[in-house]
Amino acid sequence: MKSSQAAVDVCSFSGVTTKKQEITSLESKEIYLDNTDFTIRPQVSLSGYTSYRVGGPAEWYVAPRTVEALQASVNYAKEHELPVTVLGAGSNLLVSDRGIPGLVIATRHLRYSHFDPETGQVTLAAGESIPSLAWAAAELGWEGLEWAVGIPGTVGGAVVMNAGAHNSCIADILVSAQVLTPDGTLLTLTRDQLNYSYRTSILQGSDRIVTQATFQLQPGADPAQVIAITKQHKQHRLTTQPYHLPSCGSVFRNPKPYAAGWLIEQTGLKGYQIGKAQVAQRHANFIVNCGGASAWDIFNLIRHVQYQVQENWSILLEPEVKMIGEFSLAC
Ligand SMILES: Cc1cc2nc3c(=O)[nH]c(=O)nc-3n(C[C@H](O)[C@H](O)[C@H](O)COP(=O)(O)OP(=O)(O)OC[C@H]3O[C@@H](n4cnc5c(N)ncnc54)[C@H](O)[C@@H]3O)c2cc1C
Repeated sequence: MKSSQAAVDVCSFSGVTTKKQEITSLESKEIYLDNTDFTIRPQVSLSGYTSYRVGGPAEWYVAPRTVEALQASVNYAKEHELPVTVLGAGSNLLVSDRGIPGLVIATRHLRYSHFDPETGQVTLAAGESIPSLAWAAAELGWEGLEWAVGIPGTVGGAVVMNAGAHNSCIADILVSAQVLTPDGTLLTLTRDQLNYSYRTSILQGSDRIVTQATFQLQPGADPAQVIAITKQHKQHRLTTQPYHLPSCGSVFRNPKPYAAGWLIEQTGLKGYQIGKAQVAQRHANFIVNCGGASAWDIFNLIRHVQYQVQENWSILLEPEVKMIGEFSLAC
């Protein structure tokens, strides 16, 4: 079987999608929404907005700064029957070279944070950066986020993905998340309502957009000590994972009791390359962009790895990375 045939039905595609539509719709000019200070822009390249540094354009792109502007963006998409895709820091995404039809809503400009010393809770807008949050908490002497310093995503992305490392994860600290529903309602969901398990939540593949989250931390520790542990975690990442090249972190979920990286390494795939995409030498569960890779290169390498591991171990590796847009032989 050719590698291109091997995994056609095993790759997952995601995005908060309401309706399928081709990329050629609507006239290509900026759209100003009434009573707002932001624009919806056409044909915005997404390669600069993903950690893989690949991907074609969003048909339409908007990066609202407020929840009201986010609501207006969602309403606009609904009125024009545009599918919606939510983009955090793009650190767990593989965007097709063909781009994404519809409206891409980036949360990167949704920013605020409030540390409450009375409760030890921190409430953050969806676009806040997880590594910045981990450092800010450490500098205050608040424990609970030291493990997260190497996860280069946003609060919203981490809540949706149940991001985790060093035997901790978002589900351990989440108190509640606020989400915007397609009908414009803001709902607060508790951790139990999010149905968390390993790297999953009820929000994956749903049409709800995380607008903010509240985490429970433990204030009162010695900042120097919390900073030291945070630094150790960061240093461990830098030495064991290929942070120097564009990637999405771990490509596959670990099929317990195995580690995906171990299975890939045992299959002899470390260093295997398609185009400019390579199974990293430093960590086999990373596929890196060696410079100039296309999304198609990365997609084909993912399928090749799946096929080879299945042949050798009878285990189908499930991608953790979310693949968005069209991936077909005609790319
Ligand atoms: C070098 C590197 C190391 C990494 N290490 C780790 C690690 O140790 N542990 C780990 O768990 N992950 C790791 N990752 C993967 C990634 O950082 C996490 O999955 C992160 O939580 C993704 O957040 P994001 O904001 O980038 O989300 P994106 O990649 O932008 O989006 C991921 C998914 O969440 C959805 N989404 C994003 N924001 C929202 C929102 N506000 N509302 C609704 N849906 C939303 C998107 O539509 C998409 O389906 C790593 C990535 C890299 C590049």
